[in-house]
Amino acid sequence: MKLFLTFLLVTLSSVVLAQTPRNLCKEIATELRELRPPLFAGRQRLFEYQQRAGVVYHALADKIFNSYLAHNTKPKEYIACFHSKNMSAQVERLETFLPGAFFYGTIRRLKLSSSATVRLFADDVERALNSGSITFLDISVPSDSNNTTALKFGGFHRGQSGLYINPDQLPSDQWNLIFFHEFAHALDDSLRKAVESEAKSPLMPFLERMAKKTPWDVADEEQVRTHILSSFDRGFAAEFRAWIVAASLYYQTEKLPSVDWFDQILQSSPRFEPATERIVYLFLSPRFVTEPKGVFGDPRILDIVTTIREEWDEIMPHMGPLKKYVTYQN
Ligand SMILES: [Zn+2]
Repeated sequence: MKLFLTFLLVTLSSVVLAQTPRNLCKEIATELRELRPPLFAGRQRLFEYQQRAGVVYHALADKIFNSYLAHNTKPKEYIACFHSKNMSAQVERLETFLPGAFFYGTIRRLKLSSSATVRLFADDVERALNSGSITFLDISVPSDSNNTTALKFGGFHRGQSGLYINPDQLPSDQWNLIFFHEFAHALDDSLRKAVESEAKSPLMPFLERMAKKTPWDVADEEQVRTHILSSFDRGFAAEFRAWIVAASLYYQTEKLPSVDWFDQILQSSPRFEPATERIVYLFLSPRFVTEPKGVFGDPRILDIVTTIREEWDEIMPHMGPLKKYVTYQN
């Protein structure tokens, strides 16, 4: 009985605490080494092998995700620990399972939240992933060398609805926050529409044409305004919405590690409320400035840009359908 209890405790603790990275590395290496496809196998054996391999890869990818969350162990550290062992085919295969493990693993956790808003967000992300409307995602897409530090953590490619988060760069205590932010972009209908209209009628050639035209009639002015609003829906307004959603969910998710730089941006607001939205707006606004150069040197175009921005200084950009993920706390 005592032995059984000890065994049970050990088993339980290994479930609760993810294994230490070192042990897990050895374990994965062993499992992968055994995953060589059988030589000269018949179809039935090959089929059985493939089924078993799928299960093993799934389980290993889940363990890598748990280890990342618990110990901030980067997936690339595991990859490095197998390299000497001549298992590149297995390692490559394992890597294809990582995005699913990281994203669906996060969704599973969020679905356990006591907050209905967090659960709704998790459901919507899952549906979008399953429907294929989000091109996902090499989670370890190498960062663009032009990108700033914050961007290399993750990104959302507007044109192809492609999303990635890079756990090799992103400290795991920030995983959820960046997950919220990037997937808020992916669920943002206003962003999607703006990307579609940019594809149909690109902003810059349009503005160049309009800058040459004198005078404008009322319809011209309205068209310019529509185009500029749409470009903000891909840029400043899209960032505002995605950070508001991230902030709202960040406050609603229990036991989330606090993220210093984000708390600083939010000026350590004790709860998420309309004033917090204003803080986010005032942080982002000066970071999205339209220089009066090129077509924006045309006073008529610049005036429209300035008017929109002044209107938002009064009433912040609309949240659109993303509003459903915003919950104020009392
Ligand atoms: Zn963003």
